[in-house]
Amino acid sequence: MFDSLSDKLDSAFHVLKGHGQITEINVAESLKEVRRALVDADVNYKIAKEFTNTVKEKALGQDVLKTLKPGQLMVKLVKDELTELMGGEAEGIDLSGNPSIILMSGLQGSGKTTFSGKLADYLKRKKTKKPLLVACDVYRPAAINQLHVVGEQVDVEVYSEEGNQDPVAISKSAIAYAKENGHNVVIIDTAGRLAVDEMMMTEISNIKDAIQPQETLFVVDAMTGQDAVNTAKTFNERLDFDGVILTKLDGDTRGGAAISIKSVVNKPIKFIGTGEKMDAMDVFYPSRMADRILG
Ligand code: GDP
Repeated sequence: MFDSLSDKLDSAFHVLKGHGQITEINVAESLKEVRRALVDADVNYKIAKEFTNTVKEKALGQDVLKTLKPGQLMVKLVKDELTELMGGEAEGIDLSGNPSIILMSGLQGSGKTTFSGKLADYLKRKKTKKPLLVACDVYRPAAINQLHVVGEQVDVEVYSEEGNQDPVAISKSAIAYAKENGHNVVIIDTAGRLAVDEMMMTEISNIKDAIQPQETLFVVDAMTGQDAVNTAKTFNERLDFDGVILTKLDGDTRGGAAISIKSVVNKPIKFIGTGEKMDAMDVFYPSRMADRILG
């Protein structure tokens, strides 16, 4: 097992202190460790480098060199800066519409359908919310069935139209249905593909234009590392989404994709998925993620 970054920094500074002077060069050396740890956790190299440059300036400005425990102070600086980079406070979702419309986007397999169910369940627990799940993957009957299964698990109604191949029309009818039946949140699960393609992008941007959702959420598998960042960039260019859902954080990824995505698209990560079960989700807390990335 690797030592955690905190241990590494602590021992690096401890050794240095034993030899007398701690210098700017030593700070730079220890920040190399930080950079390595970030890259190991899947943070894009360029972003990791910019990050350590910022921390270096702050460290030198704060007289880290004169403190008794420079290693610990460095760890705190790194953690605070990482937290800030990921958005500081946890961000919620806009539920001001009646109904509030939430559009789910992302590649096939990212966890969209699963998260749609989790979100419906999460909102249902807020007693004032009555969600409706909408199946808009018109290409894969299995996907529609899957949403029905998920809906049953969380006891939330699912709207689908068998045989209708027009997701814009389905979304509009679903919203009308929600209004008639007292659903104040509509969660629309859309078709994803295995890789970004023009047809998928056109389809989902047409849905977005037609229904004007309060929230367009981009779902991405945290295990996919750098690919996650590229996918996020492409979806954001086309959809200008409002937030990111980072799934599969129960895997062995350190979660550096969170930093890269936030830095590249500058949109908040709103929730995380932490398992296949319907209650395996949480609000995204930047400081907890910083702890995880630092190991
Ligand atoms: P979609 O194609 O984007 O709708 O993705 P699905 O919701 O069908 O999810 C794809 C697979 O990932 C399924 O086997 C899910 O059970 C699984 N999955 C989704 N979210 C998570 C998660 O947070 N953790 C784990 N371990 N598996 C997940």
